[in-house]
Amino acid sequence: MSTKITGFETHDVRFPTSLTGDGTDAMNTDCDYSSAYVSLLTSGDLVGHGMTFTIGRGNDIVCAAIKEVAARLVGKEVEELFANMGETWNYLCADPQLRWIGPEKGVIHIALGAVNNALWDMYARSRNKPLWKLVVDMTPEEVVNSTAFRYISDAITKEEALTMLRGKAATKSEREARVREVGYPAYVTSAGWLGYSDEKVARLTKEAVAAGFNHFKMKVGADQASDLRRGKIIRSIIDDPQYLPAGAQPRDPNGPDLIGKNAGPTGSVLMIDANQVWDVPQAIEYVKGLQDIKPWFIEEPTAPDDILGHAAIRKALKPYGIGVATGEHAHNRMVFKQLLQAEAIDVCQIDSCRLGGVSEVLAVLLMAAKFGIPVCPHAGGVGLCEYVIHLSLIDYIVVSGSMERNVLEFVDHLHEHFLYPCSINSKGRYNVPSHDNEGYSIEMHKESIARFQWPQGSYWVNEHAAAKAKGAVEH
Ligand SMILES: [Mg+2]
Repeated sequence: MSTKITGFETHDVRFPTSLTGDGTDAMNTDCDYSSAYVSLLTSGDLVGHGMTFTIGRGNDIVCAAIKEVAARLVGKEVEELFANMGETWNYLCADPQLRWIGPEKGVIHIALGAVNNALWDMYARSRNKPLWKLVVDMTPEEVVNSTAFRYISDAITKEEALTMLRGKAATKSEREARVREVGYPAYVTSAGWLGYSDEKVARLTKEAVAAGFNHFKMKVGADQASDLRRGKIIRSIIDDPQYLPAGAQPRDPNGPDLIGKNAGPTGSVLMIDANQVWDVPQAIEYVKGLQDIKPWFIEEPTAPDDILGHAAIRKALKPYGIGVATGEHAHNRMVFKQLLQAEAIDVCQIDSCRLGGVSEVLAVLLMAAKFGIPVCPHAGGVGLCEYVIHLSLIDYIVVSGSMERNVLEFVDHLHEHFLYPCSINSKGRYNVPSHDNEGYSIEMHKESIARFQWPQGSYWVNEHAAAKAKGAVEH
């Protein structure tokens, strides 16, 4: 029976995270984590939910752009869209007028990400599978047909991608069984926001170690002396076996999963993240000054579009054993292509909805695997953790075959607003999403949307003024 897309709804949903200092870093000092949310509706019962993430003001602009992109799908047969998601992606990108306000960057592109993700959510629901499982069960040809392949054939051809995917196909079920059993490795960022006091950082780090985590990320870049002080606090906890969970043994810092990561005596790893605050020479000098806290990598040391700048920083920091990671603000697959071609990164940090949705993410997963660079997706915010576990499962099971050296960001904020929130097991690893009807795990509770919709939701109308006044007194 024919099912057509008949319309869509968008919601501008904002959470008042600026009141608590959650999410604060050297660049982003005042974040209200927000979702530009879209639901695609059909002539049948099938729906598809998607979103992209912003940090507050401007979320309404993204919602306006989503309406423009989603309108291109109204009247289309869903099975025709699903049959070649790569072509569908090209079609979504190719509006002859909207293209001018990109192309493939900025507001129009993150709007495309929300819409493409909603369509993938619908596709997965139509097959009664979580999104990752839908892709894992595809043939290599279907995966390649679902990928945004335009402009990357100088880095990887479709034939090369097919060869890579076929090489992994026979052992997919072993990897799927393994990750279902042990979960996917995660790291924790929520201990090290810049807006937190030393006491709060120490307490949250101890809690994270006790919860089984062994990779930790700290925000840096506002003040070097303060970064060193906080880094030493964190290292003093993560390197001390007394804080390990009961019965847990220290991991071998020179074992295959940790080699090259500057791991301490318990096998714990520290990463640092500057959120783009430095010029290139400044980044090099500043990070050299943090070598005592032994970071695995510096994340986003400079402007996200500066491919050669990242390459220069990576080269200069290599003798210090510190790597370079970036990608959460890399706005399309061509930026990742060049970061890989220029040997500018040690770790590739895709973002699930700054890239134009699953189809473009697949392109970056394939390129990163070809160049031998691990993918450690960006998460946190609102909804990003729900999304990225699916992407890392696809990467491990279908594309790279590599899991234990990778880690997936985890931030324990705002999961309660989702029908199928992500979760972490007792070893500090993501559980595998496994409900038949959860799609891309991004469906938000209707009550959360009604309460936090901006500016007319009940929280913003009735509760915010009092919460803000209370916060001002406590600070
Ligand atoms: Mg970051």
